[in-house]
Amino acid sequence: AREQASTVQQYDAAHDTGAENRLELLGDLRRAIGADDQLSLHYQPKVCLATGRVTGVEALIRWQHPRLGRMAPDRFIPMAESTSLIRPLTAHVLDIAVRQAKLWAERGTPIPIAVNLSTRCLLDPGFAGQVFGLLYRTGLPAALLKLEITESVAMADPDRALTVLRALHDAGISLSLDDFGTGHSSMAYLQRLPVDELKIDKSFVQAMADSRADEVLVRTAITLGHNLGLSVVAEGVEDEAAVGALRALGCDIAQGYHYARPMPPEEFDRWLAGYTE
Ligand code: C2E
Ligand code: CA
Ligand code: CA
Ligand code: CA
Repeated sequence: AREQASTVQQYDAAHDTGAENRLELLGDLRRAIGADDQLSLHYQPKVCLATGRVTGVEALIRWQHPRLGRMAPDRFIPMAESTSLIRPLTAHVLDIAVRQAKLWAERGTPIPIAVNLSTRCLLDPGFAGQVFGLLYRTGLPAALLKLEITESVAMADPDRALTVLRALHDAGISLSLDDFGTGHSSMAYLQRLPVDELKIDKSFVQAMADSRADEVLVRTAITLGHNLGLSVVAEGVEDEAAVGALRALGCDIAQGYHYARPMPPEEFDRWLAGYTE
């Protein structure tokens, strides 16, 4: 009986540790949103393949956890997405991003800024109004804000998501379909989405060099995007060979380590000052 009890106890302990960690981490994240010194945004340039010009930046969240150090977004974003914490987190990210974009615009170097959105935001009928309020308060032109969404996001409740997306788009905010090729996209639905840009997922861009199938997929995505009147972005562009291949395929914009890693704002400013097309 003793043995049994200890086994049960061990099992429970192991089980609880996972849940506790998760809850603890969520609590830490909630505090981080209010803390001011843990969460920041890094910015990665998007470059026009025809001209070499920087056409915008993507804002990517970074979390410096007080005890655990740097935490990857892939670890805490899905966790936040499974709770309502994603709402204040997204609001916080938008706030930082919009203020940064406003700063760049005021300095005479307006750069459109792209923010990643989660499913839940598009299912929240008040979301568009919150974004408009933020733009109004900061005075940032809607044309300088871009929102990146994923197919899965919109698929959860297509009609509800479409209403929010149309409101955002009608106000002049541009929309980008992220991670293209990874989801279960329906062509009919893609056509209904008021998006301006399609981002080919980095897994395909990276595999393109060695795999004919992936090259075909990238080529097809570019054609599809262009046929729908969209600008096509390749993410995960890591070398000159990829740049050449994408240019040959008529891809519009490239983003990846070949140009720059996501950088804190001061570093991005220095990078941009030294960048030659
Ligand atoms: P994503 O939106 O697909 O972002 C692209 C990811 O690829 C980023 O990872 C970026 O740092 C990385 N990356 C950029 N260039 C290259 C390259 O040349 N090679 C490789 N191997 N990777 C490259 P990161 O910053 O770790 O973000 C991971 C994911 O977390 C993002 O994927 C996005 O889905 C999510 N995420 C990041 N920031 C936010 C945010 O503020 N809000 C939300 N909702 N999600 C975010
Ligand atoms: Ca993205
Ligand atoms: Ca991606
Ligand atoms: Ca993603």
